[in-house]
Amino acid sequence: MRIILLGAPGAGKGSVGRPLSSQLEIPVISTGDIFRSNISGRTKLGLTAKGYMDRGELVPDGLTVSIVEDRIAQSDCAKGFILDGFPRNTFQASELDRILEKANLKIDLVLNVHLSDERIIQRLSSRMVCSSCGESYNRMSKDTSMPGICDLCGGRVSVREDDAPETVRKRLETYYLQTMPLIDFYRERGILSTIDNDCTIEEGSKRALEAVRNALPDHMSGHGRL
Ligand code: AMP
Repeated sequence: MRIILLGAPGAGKGSVGRPLSSQLEIPVISTGDIFRSNISGRTKLGLTAKGYMDRGELVPDGLTVSIVEDRIAQSDCAKGFILDGFPRNTFQASELDRILEKANLKIDLVLNVHLSDERIIQRLSSRMVCSSCGESYNRMSKDTSMPGICDLCGGRVSVREDDAPETVRKRLETYYLQTMPLIDFYRERGILSTIDNDCTIEEGSKRALEAVRNALPDHMSGHGRL
């Protein structure tokens, strides 16, 4: 199954994607995580991406599309994948169509994860993220057991630089201008499902799973893990 997670920064795409990935046994491809690991590894791609990310802007399409094209071609994506944070504008969406058409594949579901701006700003101001595995924590609602250490992998957990209030405002503006039009783009194709994510992580994950069940292609409706 191939799924796109759509939604504003901080709406909870990552928290919804991780449990879906283990239930469906398909990888999450997060362009943001790919950029962040390149920044940590001080690669050329990381250096280029950092400037855009620090300003709350999108990394240029050419770079982003080719990363996704290479990643989708890897063997662990053969059964499907969950795209988190891609596509982020209509150009990337049409490039994704081109890539998938070439491989005779299609997207089964676009899951639009919705949260109000007010709640997004609240959540991002207390969010912390593991720099190794990407697990998300929140000082208010889901702290680490040991300060600064990821419960899952022991990696370093810290505040994301682009979660600073000024950058969050810019990222939301970028989302409304460039990404939100994709909601109609995919609604018109009849593959959009929206979940309200103003709830606990467990409840959000249940709602996402329900949307996936409703969208399962016929040949997968007996998928044991669902
Ligand atoms: P995220 O982790 O998805 O919130 O992404 C963090 C940042 O990475 C974004 O604010 C962008 O600067 C960059 N980024 C992630 N995905 C994309 C994309 N599909 N296109 C362009 N830039 C992206």
